[in-house]
Amino acid sequence: MIENLINRIAQNKIDFEIGSQTILNEHSTDFQTILAQLKNYIFNSIPNKTNYNSETYQNAINTIPLKQTSTPIVILKTFPTKIAFNKLEQLPESEQHKVIISLLWIFKETDSQRLNTECKNGCEHKWHNVE
Ligand SMILES: [Zn+2]
Repeated sequence: MIENLINRIAQNKIDFEIGSQTILNEHSTDFQTILAQLKNYIFNSIPNKTNYNSETYQNAINTIPLKQTSTPIVILKTFPTKIAFNKLEQLPESEQHKVIISLLWIFKETDSQRLNTECKNGCEHKWHNVE
C-alpha cells in the first residue's frame, strides 16, 4: 500500500533512500496519483492554512537530498506553496522522480514537526497510530 509506505518513510520507520526508491520503482506509472496524495498530506501537516508556509516547510526545501539547482527545488523556492505545487504537476516526465523525492522529503519534515508538537500527547490521525 502506497499510503502506508509514504507514512513509514515520513516517520523514519523505513530508510528514506530505500523507501523513495521503492516508490519510484514500483509506482512510477502513478505519478499524478502519488503527487496528489503527497500534496494533500503536506497541506494537512502544515498548521498555516492561509498560505501553507512555515519555517519547517522552508527548512525542508533547503535540505531535500537533491542538487539545490534542480528544477523542482528552484520552483519550490521561487513560488508560494500552492502555485509551486501546481507547477510541479506540470513538469515533464524527466523531472517526475525528482518531484516525488522532493515532496516525500518535505512531508517527512512537516509531518515529523507535527508529531513532535500537536500530536505529541497522542492524536486521532490513524497514520500516526500504526506500527
Ligand atoms: Zn497525529
